[in-house]
Amino acid sequence: MAVPQNRVTRSRRNMRRAHDGLTAGNPNECSNCGELKRPHHVCPSCGHYADREVIATAGEVDLDEDAA
Ligand SMILES: [Zn+2]
Repeated sequence: MAVPQNRVTRSRRNMRRAHDGLTAGNPNECSNCGELKRPHHVCPSCGHYADREVIATAGEVDLDEDAA
């Protein structure tokens, strides 16, 4: 098994990881509700895509409807 020849200090480890941060990519405004959303994805806050509702959001679903 390969073994590291030298200990990597906290400083060196952290310097190496300084470039590992992720950046959020290019958010768009939802044309229906104005919330920021990912491009080419259904809006997570209103469920719209391309100016029409494609999924119901949790607030609009009546959970008791099919209970009985
Ligand atoms: Zn929206």
